[in-house]
Amino acid sequence: MTRAVTRGRTIPFFAPDLFEEDREVLLDLVRRTGTVAGQRFILGERTAALEEALRATVDGAEVVACSSGTSGLTLILTAMGVGPGDEVVVPAYGCAPLGNTVANLGATPVFADIDPVTMVVDPAEVERAITPRTRAVMPAHMFSVMADMPAMREIARRHGVRLVEDSAVAQGGVLHGRPAGTWGEAGVFSFVQVKTFGTAGEGGVVVTHDAELARVVRALRNHGQEGPRFVHQRVGLNSRFDELQAAFQLHRLPGLAARLERRARIAAHYTERFAPLAERGIVPPPPGRDGRCYYVYSVLAEEREALERHLAAHGVASHVYYPLPLPHQPAFARFAPPGREWPHAWAASRRQLALPVNPHLTDAEVEYVADTVCAFAAGGRAA
Ligand SMILES: *Cc1c(COP(=O)(O)O)cnc(C)c1O
Repeated sequence: MTRAVTRGRTIPFFAPDLFEEDREVLLDLVRRTGTVAGQRFILGERTAALEEALRATVDGAEVVACSSGTSGLTLILTAMGVGPGDEVVVPAYGCAPLGNTVANLGATPVFADIDPVTMVVDPAEVERAITPRTRAVMPAHMFSVMADMPAMREIARRHGVRLVEDSAVAQGGVLHGRPAGTWGEAGVFSFVQVKTFGTAGEGGVVVTHDAELARVVRALRNHGQEGPRFVHQRVGLNSRFDELQAAFQLHRLPGLAARLERRARIAAHYTERFAPLAERGIVPPPPGRDGRCYYVYSVLAEEREALERHLAAHGVASHVYYPLPLPHQPAFARFAPPGREWPHAWAASRRQLALPVNPHLTDAEVEYVADTVCAFAAGGRAA
């Protein structure tokens, strides 16, 4: 293991040179978008072209660009009529939008525990959480593993509830030949800078094969207008998409497959190196390519804080995603029934550690990260 790889610097978690190769293009797009005839800066022809281009990546589903992944979830839940008195079953472990989007509509997020290894929501726990007030279930793909969507579809069908797929991190992921985002009645992708199809700012899309749902989402994203301007059929919101981001995403789209492939290869290499470490308290995600997405590469470590310190001492940045399960967050405490526990979500919040997997890492850096983790497991810890 040679520290020379890092040249005294820290291997970053997110690529600091994210758009360096695209800088000239971005500046040119600012100029071109800024000087375009008609001066249309939102929901123009570039947005329409991006929506059209993305359709080809999701089996021809409808794509509606909006202001963020979170906003996409809100648009879907709103279009489904979720509101006060309704319950939506969401994972107990995950990002805040899973709770926020539901709570902000006046509905109740009901937290279901997760699988202890893959960290996606456990279908049996989702089913257990369903009550007569359940309006929808909203599983999320996590870090590197897609949720068990066949089971989710079956549960939604059996109980007559809506199925929203939080596929914000899983763009390009495929499970059993079917793209992420198309398993639910509707799904989302997020374009926030750090996501796999991140942009130079914010954005997202709603993906759905349901033409009626797409039509309603399209109206809702622009204040509920449909047909004549300033006539509002529904209470909508402002979740419009920016022409500059659309132009930049159109430029970035052809390279997406290669960047995702690079992530997947880095992840596969880590998983191969870490597979023997399970008995030493470091558990990698399951191997394979089906139902995988590598926004984040995450291990479960018995001695997470010590591993984190060891990596930092050797110049490797790591992240703890979600030091608290959602029902343990102050914001969602009122949705955590007294006495209810989510033991697997709690265990994940104590053990999860994410390693750099961004496509700009060199092979030498990837090997160095793997070596550093393996050295820790072998007992060669930083003081
Ligand atoms: C990033 C993310 C979101 C939200 O996307 P934004 O574009 O940041 O609003 C929602 N769900 C999950 C699982 C995410 O990781």
